[in-house]
Amino acid sequence: MWRPGQDGVWGLANCGLITSQGESLLIDTPYTPALTDDFLEAARAATGHNALTRVAITHANGDHTWGLQQLPDAEIIATRATLEHQCLEPTPPQLTALGRSSDPDQPLGWYFRQHFGRFDFSDIRVLAPTTTFAGRLDVQVGAVPAVLLEVGPAHTVGDLIVHLPEQRVVFAGDIAFAGDHPPHWAGPLHRISDACARILALDPEWIVPGHGPVMTPDDLRAYMAYLDDLADQAATMYAQGRTSSEAVRILIKEGRYPGLGLPERLAITLGTEFRHLSEDSADVDMVALVNQAAHIAWDLASADSRSR
Ligand SMILES: [Zn+2]
Repeated sequence: MWRPGQDGVWGLANCGLITSQGESLLIDTPYTPALTDDFLEAARAATGHNALTRVAITHANGDHTWGLQQLPDAEIIATRATLEHQCLEPTPPQLTALGRSSDPDQPLGWYFRQHFGRFDFSDIRVLAPTTTFAGRLDVQVGAVPAVLLEVGPAHTVGDLIVHLPEQRVVFAGDIAFAGDHPPHWAGPLHRISDACARILALDPEWIVPGHGPVMTPDDLRAYMAYLDDLADQAATMYAQGRTSSEAVRILIKEGRYPGLGLPERLAITLGTEFRHLSEDSADVDMVALVNQAAHIAWDLASADSRSR
């Protein structure tokens, strides 16, 4: 497990390396080529400098895939749904433009600079998967069997997890977040909870989340309880005629989920949940959801500075 991040930040995703008998499988890449070079250097050292020829990507978000150009000849394995829905992701030039042209004195520009200003998105080429599957794909890595299981739509449309049955480890991708509120883009929430139940049914000892420290099965059960409670809250407040932004503000004011960072990301997950509750079948607008989160964070920060 490669863990570059700390809590309370966007974009620093966990990656993985499975290596055995001169063969390897990488799981995801960091957000940018520069971060990816650090990961690959450590991975090459761990493999005894064997070529890194395969990478499985857990989903299409840039923070898990935009380093792929640093592995130009590698086989890139993903679900078919990830390939087909790659177009929903903002592109590197769009994010570069957003960083340059958004107003730093407005919520989106302020929030974007605070959380994404550290990343250089110029000169990133987005590569498409070269091997796709639906359902299940078995991959042998030297002596280590790895099972790729499609669990999307959940966090995104095309999520997969990587199960190492002999090591009792599951790389969960962004199905699971530790430490911070997750931003779920596809949903609905019960699909993410169902994916967690599938992970637990594999009887792992350790779960590597997409972000944050490694989790035990009990950690994952606590996270599932959070997802289920959030789904209940969303259903109740939707039935009361509230908007997702109102629901987020109520949950934050109540202090319902203490201890989790980035509470403004509730705007993304609840925005997704409300889209399902209202049977809105339009494609997800990821920048619009981040903008909603930015408005919540902006209001929390101004309330904070008023109280000081
Ligand atoms: Zn992620």
